[in-house]
Amino acid sequence: MTVEPRASIVWDYAPAPEATDHLRLRDRYGLFIGGDFVEPADGRYAPTVNPATEEVIAEVAWAGPADMGRAIEVSRAAQPRWAALPDRERGKFLFRIARLIQERARELAVVETLDGGKPLRESRDVDIPLAAAHFFHYAGWADKLRFGVNAREVAPLGVVGQIVPWNFPLLMAAWKLAPALACGNTAILKPAETTPLTALLLAEICQEAELPEGVVSILPGDGAVGAALVRAPGLDKIAFTGSTAVGRDIQTALAGRGVELTLELGGKSANIVFEDAAIDQAVEGIVNGIFFNQGHVCCAGSRLLIQESVVDEVVAKLWARMGRLRVGDPLDKNTDVGAINSAEQLERISELVAAGEAEGAVRRSVQCELPERGYWFAPTMFTEVAPAHRVAVEEIFGPVVSVLTFRTQAEAIEKANNSKYGLAAGIWTDKGAKAFEVASALRAGVVWQNTYNHFDPTAAFGGYKESGFGREGGPAGLRPYLRVAR
Ligand code: NDP
Repeated sequence: MTVEPRASIVWDYAPAPEATDHLRLRDRYGLFIGGDFVEPADGRYAPTVNPATEEVIAEVAWAGPADMGRAIEVSRAAQPRWAALPDRERGKFLFRIARLIQERARELAVVETLDGGKPLRESRDVDIPLAAAHFFHYAGWADKLRFGVNAREVAPLGVVGQIVPWNFPLLMAAWKLAPALACGNTAILKPAETTPLTALLLAEICQEAELPEGVVSILPGDGAVGAALVRAPGLDKIAFTGSTAVGRDIQTALAGRGVELTLELGGKSANIVFEDAAIDQAVEGIVNGIFFNQGHVCCAGSRLLIQESVVDEVVAKLWARMGRLRVGDPLDKNTDVGAINSAEQLERISELVAAGEAEGAVRRSVQCELPERGYWFAPTMFTEVAPAHRVAVEEIFGPVVSVLTFRTQAEAIEKANNSKYGLAAGIWTDKGAKAFEVASALRAGVVWQNTYNHFDPTAAFGGYKESGFGREGGPAGLRPYLRVAR
């Protein structure tokens, strides 16, 4: 008998690109005002670009002052009628929007990936289903509003201006619009300059749902359009998600004007791994915490605090796992890490990473073949990080994790809280009591235990300190859109 040597098997993934031939994208999108797409008064259009290829996807109108005035006028006219609808009827419109998002889920996921660079796996499995879930959730609240605020009498605020960032374009639009509409407000949404498309598809969905005209307006544009919306007379509230610097500017602009405000800002969230954690599970959680959406996540677990006794093991396993991340074409269903959202963001990440090296932290970046065009950054880990290093203090908003260590539980809490931010945190431990004890000592709006970046429309989300104020999600998310009788 002869024994054949076994051929070695090379495991690799075949390309699995999602199709784009089912898309119904227009070449040009106007502003969405009064239930219709309209030309901007000054005729200004700008291209929106695919960050993975640098190709133009469509031209999008930018709102000028005259358009903004018109949008506020129609929103104001529509608001009393919208608020006067029986609560259940308002709820039905939100249900319809949720169902239409589900029906168009595949198309929305592909457009989100094309416009923003995030892996299709994430837009398909996270962004779009969660956006629908938020509309479903608040559809259910529309006729129960007073029970969300301790059975007090409630009234809508009026017309709200909402400004969202580019990291979760449709999901952030859903977080903002669903509770605002459920509470009887009308809304003017400004999507981010680099990712306006899914908000414009949502405008089409509002048309399909026969939402009364003027209830939702969508005004794309750059930061100046956002700044003008904040300063425009005739709004009752501004809701903003984005950077702390812009949040500060908005707060200053609104001071003394009697306009309600909620801010969901940046973060530098601590992901704390104790020695008694299930290490392999923790490593998966660390990866999900920082490499999900290329780290363009306000609550990203960007400060990794590891107990000293297990630091070598965790770092070795994390580094091995990082080496298996698939970086590249966001439309490929096997891709884990897609394109950086814009050239500006890539520059910001590169600048902070260079500062980390210059300050003496040790950088390791995964070697991967990156496409020639587009904006890319290889998954990166910093060790030997001191708490004062910029990479331990500033929001990088990219696929970069900074590793710090601690010896005791008290030290872990102190280091985790040693930040101007307070958005989120993660705790990895086998001991339930320890998790509760640490969670209650952390100054963070959301604390995950043995998981990370886990979102649910029924749960409140928001920050402390320079991460902002106000909550989105769950019954707590109704409060910022209601006047509540004392
Ligand atoms: P911004 O805060 O500038 O953008 C968020 C939104 O606000 C966008 O729609 C933006 O428009 C708009 N905007 C910009 N300037 C103003 C203004 N003066 N008044 C009102 N609205 C304005 O974030 P960036 O895109 O510039 O990102 C910078 C950094 O901010 C990132 O590196 C990251 O650290 C952080 N960031 C944090 C986010 C979070 O969720 N915590 C989200 C996004 C960014 P436009 O896009 O057209 O400029």
